[in-house]
Amino acid sequence: MEQLKNAKIVATLGPASSSNEMIRKLAIAGVNVFRLNFSHGTHETHIQNAATIRRIEQELNTPLAIMMDLQGPKIRIGVFEDGSVSLKQGAKFILDMEKDFGNSRRICLPHPEIFNALKEGTELLLDDGKIRLRIEENNGKEITTEVIDGGILSNKKGVNIPNIILPITALTEKDKKDIAIADEISADWIAISFVQTADDVSYARSFANSDVGILAKIEKPSAVECIDSILDVSDAIMVARGDLGVELPFESIPGIQRRLINKARQHRKPVVVATQMLESMISCHVPTRAEVSDVSCAVAEGADAVMLSAETASGDFPEESVKVMAKTIRKTEQDNLNFFDKDFENLTAFSESVAKTVDKENISFIAAFTESGRCAINVSNSRPNAKIVALTPNLKTLRKLSLVWGIRAVLVDEVFSFAQMTQITQKTICKNFEVEDGTKVAIIAGIPFRASGQTNLMHIYKIDKEIKDEE
Ligand code: PEP
Repeated sequence: MEQLKNAKIVATLGPASSSNEMIRKLAIAGVNVFRLNFSHGTHETHIQNAATIRRIEQELNTPLAIMMDLQGPKIRIGVFEDGSVSLKQGAKFILDMEKDFGNSRRICLPHPEIFNALKEGTELLLDDGKIRLRIEENNGKEITTEVIDGGILSNKKGVNIPNIILPITALTEKDKKDIAIADEISADWIAISFVQTADDVSYARSFANSDVGILAKIEKPSAVECIDSILDVSDAIMVARGDLGVELPFESIPGIQRRLINKARQHRKPVVVATQMLESMISCHVPTRAEVSDVSCAVAEGADAVMLSAETASGDFPEESVKVMAKTIRKTEQDNLNFFDKDFENLTAFSESVAKTVDKENISFIAAFTESGRCAINVSNSRPNAKIVALTPNLKTLRKLSLVWGIRAVLVDEVFSFAQMTQITQKTICKNFEVEDGTKVAIIAGIPFRASGQTNLMHIYKIDKEIKDEE
């Protein structure tokens, strides 16, 4: 079972990877979390993929998490008579609510809910920022714009409006229908797109089961601004660099990425870095050197996980992409390339004493007995030198922890006594890792047992190779 990397890999499934054989290959190559992207695909394909993931999880005997990524309130224009138009710099272009086909003079913007929020001077970015329009007038029915950056604009392209908080809820009617099948696909994480404020996350959470992790995708400037309050109510965040790089100048993304990773670690919440990490591998079997550096940099900055999108969903080299990512993570970790401070400022007092004891006593493993996963996440946040083994009777917790740095989770029976705890530790470590007699393990747990939410016990246990497993 021993995994040789601490940072985890999230891989998006799509037409290139929706087979039993490919999902198996991706899991063996190092995927910990499979992302089902509800911007594409049907309920049928997602349900089928989820069933395959669960089969492979059993077959390989390794926990795999499923992340349901909701489309969110993506704003799109309507369709053109001829499929596309060419917009010239300086020309006027109208957005309205007429359902007719568009032309080079006008197009439908079928989002009445945002019309009134669009004011003179507001900039609209279309087709991932390739086309830029500035509003000259909004009479409530028609918005007249000037083309600042022109080009070819085709049907249903996305519209980004970076600088204002739009009066839209975080979940569309489609999202609500999608979230209703979260149980059916056994989703462990639900990713919320285009979060603007903490209220969006709380609203989305009210539609999900309490044991599912809620991950806020940070892809709006407003979300960057109120990141502390978003982190307070989220279980994890994603630095979603695709839309973020449209809404903000792309040169600001590296700094924002670093800031968001640090913020997530201060709040002791997992953070995923996503998008275009190995983009050239969509069509080439080797990455660019710049892409390898990007993956390595995210890991060195302290990300819990790095993500593949089109590389595994629709690219020609899904398995190779995961292998490159896994190799890059391992080498970054072997080379000890940490850009973050290993200070103890962000830690709970308990995790701080665990981290210090691990270093002082030369401890090889931390065995964290956990119901909700919280105590293992807190310990992971210190990025300790020991391997973290989370022991949990809760299947949802086991799978959710697949996203978190350094945690190897194992399903165990519920523990009722100190003696049981040491027995399970001895058995689990010996079964899953190569260990020598006397290897030190820091067992951490909450006493009384089964009372969730407090970790107050650390016991240093030495592996005894003489003890034989009764089973
Ligand atoms: C992103 O924008 O970077 C992202 C991960 O979201 P999506 O792939 O849903 O656009």
